[in-house]
Amino acid sequence: MSRRGLMRGGLAGLGGAAAGIAVLRGREWIGPDRLPLDGGYAPAGNELGGQGRGAVSVLWHVRTEQPLVALTFDDGPAPDWTPRVLDTLDRLDVAATFFVVGQRLRRHAALVRDRYARHEVGNHTWAHKDLAQRDERGVRDQLRRCHDAVADVLGREPTLLRPPWGHLGGTTLTVAEELGYDVVMWSRQMREAAFARDPAGIVADTVAAARPGAIILAHDVGDRRRLVTIDHLTGIVAGLRDRGLRPVTVSALRAAAAADPAP
Ligand SMILES: [Zn+2]
Repeated sequence: MSRRGLMRGGLAGLGGAAAGIAVLRGREWIGPDRLPLDGGYAPAGNELGGQGRGAVSVLWHVRTEQPLVALTFDDGPAPDWTPRVLDTLDRLDVAATFFVVGQRLRRHAALVRDRYARHEVGNHTWAHKDLAQRDERGVRDQLRRCHDAVADVLGREPTLLRPPWGHLGGTTLTVAEELGYDVVMWSRQMREAAFARDPAGIVADTVAAARPGAIILAHDVGDRRRLVTIDHLTGIVAGLRDRGLRPVTVSALRAAAAADPAP
């Protein structure tokens, strides 16, 4: 099943019990019938039914004619990498969206408290856990603790959620709705592994794939192969700008798209 198929199926499934949406593990799709009953895969059990909006927005691309793309960085903050990303973005006058891990934000609060001011910060769970494997209480704990960390450290409430690895279960959607989140996936992941030793390649590959409305995923934590993106972020932004594409935050991209004339 394609990711798009999963999204459609998952959202439609919420109308029922939301009892089991397929999850992607590695390259293998595992349907609900193969999830262990005692391994934290409790049925999503929509106990919040009848409350709230009863729906949540899940986006991986924004439809717009405007020449904008969203740059997103996951898994930080971390010493060294995150300041390097922030330095580059400052120098280029670019605002991005950082999906932070709550416990890392608490640990490195002094490093980023002021420096995130110009950027958007979203929730990437407390400890980078697979939300598709957690029951409602576990999902709420992961999201609430990260939410509170962002509010305490940065003085603002996050409104965007990116689940680690993009793994979504029905429970995540219902808790996201409860906490007022929209779920943000991505339309393009920078291919650091493929171009770890090829700086020109990562720049060309990322720039060539960019489209108006794209949501581009990079990381500011991880194994050393990912450094190719950090080290060559200037070239990537320059390449996007050469194509007439301006990098912005996810929310700025959505706001700009909302202002598009009706089709
Ligand atoms: Zn992540």
